[in-house]
Amino acid sequence: MKKILVAFIFALCVVFGITPPTQAGMISLEQEIEMGRETANYLEAQYGVVQDYALQERINNIGQRLAAVCGRNEITYSFKVLNSNEVNALACPGGFIYVFKGLIDYMPSDTELAGVIGHEVGHVAQKHTVNSIEKQMWTTLALIVATGGRGGMGLIGAAQQALFAGYSRTDERGADKEGFYNTVKAGYNPYAMLITASKLEDLAAQGGGANYGLFSSHPEPEERVKRINKYLKEYDITPMVVLNENGVATIKESDWTFNIGQDIGSTKAEYRAYMLAGSLWVARQRGPINPDYFVVYDNGSYAHIYYDDIQLLTVYNQDAVGIAPDAGSYAAACTRMLREWAPIANYNDKLKKDAAFAEEQKRLAEEQKKLEKEQAKKAKEEQKRLEKERKAKEKAEKKAREKAEKEAKKKIV
Ligand SMILES: [Zn+2]
Repeated sequence: MKKILVAFIFALCVVFGITPPTQAGMISLEQEIEMGRETANYLEAQYGVVQDYALQERINNIGQRLAAVCGRNEITYSFKVLNSNEVNALACPGGFIYVFKGLIDYMPSDTELAGVIGHEVGHVAQKHTVNSIEKQMWTTLALIVATGGRGGMGLIGAAQQALFAGYSRTDERGADKEGFYNTVKAGYNPYAMLITASKLEDLAAQGGGANYGLFSSHPEPEERVKRINKYLKEYDITPMVVLNENGVATIKESDWTFNIGQDIGSTKAEYRAYMLAGSLWVARQRGPINPDYFVVYDNGSYAHIYYDDIQLLTVYNQDAVGIAPDAGSYAAACTRMLREWAPIANYNDKLKKDAAFAEEQKRLAEEQKKLEKEQAKKAKEEQKRLEKERKAKEKAEKKAREKAEKEAKKKIV
């Protein structure tokens, strides 16, 4: 019925040569899910789903962790890997989210994938495709009319068209912001999105990347990286990472610094620094940093540095050149420096905690004051009411007395 009505409005608009009004909320939740599912079926038929249960489960787990904190929970999210070497990801309306196998090859860590998937979840949570179809009523309705409104084919066509046409810059920014907060809330490395954005920028600079999905009308790369840095600052993510002109990335908290200068293959020094800084942030969310929890697993030509079960950094023989005999002893030196970070991190966290506590106390005191004021006002009003009642009673009693006296006098007379 709604469809017929909409088509009728559309026809009227055509006849009178006016633009149909924007119909926010015109597409129902059921319609959103239906067009998402149809688009998902199309993608799966087109590319095929990678037949690797462990990989599918891993991607789904990352996705569910992010979806759980995204604030839109009336839909069921699914996350699958499409069998394509393209570095890309797509979010269909209704929560059907896909990453391409090529993306996982290019961004193999959970951290990086969380950055991409967080962004895609952001598009669904903020209903970007649905909103864009609703905004483009002309095209949408033309499609519905052209297909005779058969089984919602028009809407599905519109969904696919919108998805491949890309999002607006505003929507991309919205998905970045939402993605950043989702990754942080879900407990991932807060630098995830910065690594992802920088790596996509590298690929675009090399001329790679498709012209839809992840690459469609994304904000200018430089501006994007700047914006994500702003979110990191707003959220007060520490340690921070400073990039120097000579390519050395400095991880910094108060006076403590830790430098990474080596690129390892295509992994730039700055990405290694973001990984380390963000992992340290994840570690401190568990409570005060214990210096004894920093450990080295020496593998000969490389060594992993962990804090408890959190992987912080992998160092290689080439990192050690001119500083230490090999990766293992270099890792040991790094670990000593990381232990020096512990008291600084703990001190800063305590300051932050104390400040938050003081803020909360202030808020509670203000609330209490407000409550007392309200109670005093109520008590005053009640007193006023009682006084009024008392006076009215007195007046009535006086009147009755006077009347009685009059009656008595009358009898005497
Ligand atoms: Zn996007």
